[in-house]
Amino acid sequence: MKKAENFFLAEEKELIVNAIRAAEKNTSGEIRVHLEDNCYENVLDRAAFIFEKLQIHKTQKRNGVLFYLSVQDKKFAVLGDAGINAVTPENFWDEIKETMAKFFNRGDFVTGLIKGIEITSEVLKNDYPYQKNDVDELPNEISFGEN
Ligand code: CA
Ligand code: CA
Repeated sequence: MKKAENFFLAEEKELIVNAIRAAEKNTSGEIRVHLEDNCYENVLDRAAFIFEKLQIHKTQKRNGVLFYLSVQDKKFAVLGDAGINAVTPENFWDEIKETMAKFFNRGDFVTGLIKGIEITSEVLKNDYPYQKNDVDELPNEISFGEN
């Protein structure tokens, strides 16, 4: 069984981090990816817990987004902060999740995540365009486990 840290190869991690970087050149929204071994509760509750733990709400415009995936039971969730929910349609995340699931179901988690990140930044750039004086408010690196 693969642990979260080893779920992606180094070069795959790099592709994902590059996608986050590119997305954050498109929008002031901040994107985080978090992987865990297993999710033992409702995946949205778990994602909300991790969101809090990673302090994703600590952006100036409240436009942080969490992509959460537990690698062994393959549960995933996408969670946006208040600033995003205010400007996006209700089924926004469901549609992104549907697109991601198409790739995930084929075992292509790298492309699934990257697609999710790309679509998110395309949508966010309308309400939250990239600013010249942009600050990288949240780390672009993938985080693992409970931290
Ligand atoms: Ca930023
Ligand atoms: Ca960032």
